[in-house]
Amino acid sequence: MKLSLYLGTYKRVKVFIHWTFSLLLLWIIISNLRANTPVEDILWTLLFVFGLFFCVILHEFGHALAAQKYGINTKDITLLPIGGLARLEKIPEEPKQELWVAIAGPLVNIGIFVILSIILAFTGYDLERLENLNINGSTMILYLASANLILALFNMLPAFPMDGGRVLRAFLAIRLPRAKATRIAGSIGQLLAIAFVFYGLFNNPILVLIGIFIFLGAAAEVNHTSQASFLKGFKVKDAMMLKFQILAYDAPLSKATEKLLDSQATHFVVVKDDVAVGTLSKDQIIQGLKEGGSNLKIEEVTDFNPFKIETEESLEEAWRNMMTKQRKVAFVIENGHFLGILDQENITEFILVKSALSND
Ligand SMILES: [Zn+2]
Repeated sequence: MKLSLYLGTYKRVKVFIHWTFSLLLLWIIISNLRANTPVEDILWTLLFVFGLFFCVILHEFGHALAAQKYGINTKDITLLPIGGLARLEKIPEEPKQELWVAIAGPLVNIGIFVILSIILAFTGYDLERLENLNINGSTMILYLASANLILALFNMLPAFPMDGGRVLRAFLAIRLPRAKATRIAGSIGQLLAIAFVFYGLFNNPILVLIGIFIFLGAAAEVNHTSQASFLKGFKVKDAMMLKFQILAYDAPLSKATEKLLDSQATHFVVVKDDVAVGTLSKDQIIQGLKEGGSNLKIEEVTDFNPFKIETEESLEEAWRNMMTKQRKVAFVIENGHFLGILDQENITEFILVKSALSND
């Protein structure tokens, strides 16, 4: 988030604006100056862009606040030139909940459209003015109203993982297993994404970006959902490692490199007086070698605050928590005692085994 400007927080949701947004503004200014557009008109155009993106933020808040109703937090909302992005802690698995969270965004735009249309009905408008693409004080509301309608309709296209695609997945998931529903919605999303890219190549470069974004997003989410489906029903104890490499906290890093080269392990348990006190990863070892050489004490690079999970915890839940907290390894605890470790490689292998055994 370093390259984003913090705008503020509302209802515990932080709002950022991505630096590339300034490129969009710059592009509007430069292309208009080259076309000899009067400065006043450029200012109106910029005002329209800010107004439009304010509506995009409201759209994202539609998702975030609907998710909050189901106890799901939103880490932040980031405004990009191609639209907004609300990072929800997770997507609700209950189809009805996903449906409401997905539809809440476009509904906000419909709401804005209705309000602006009422204002227009009272103040009078001329639809033909939309065609000359001349944004100024008298057409601003008309443009914002149309833009909100377009935003709502565009987002409701069934291009998973866009809102309409999520609505589609939710409907499919009422009758089908979630992984299968996601596969179908994902394929439709990717087909539409390809159409966006082709159409965008000749008409609108932003559509190309959106198409690529959708294509990759669909692939990632289909992959993620099918992996999660293999973890369903299992507990942490089913995948955890009881055999692991240990290192003394006061040994030099050279001991760690020895074990690293001598085994397949990528995570080590650091012990002090026979008690497991922390974890050391391959990356931390390499980092330590770079900074302090092989005589550096292991405790200097050890993570003494390891992520902890319980043996009886659901494996899927543990996997998701480790990913959202960006932890690659966790201490597995039973009745308050350290029992073993679980790392990402472990889980990946578990998924590979289960998927090989399934006939799907
Ligand atoms: Zn949305």
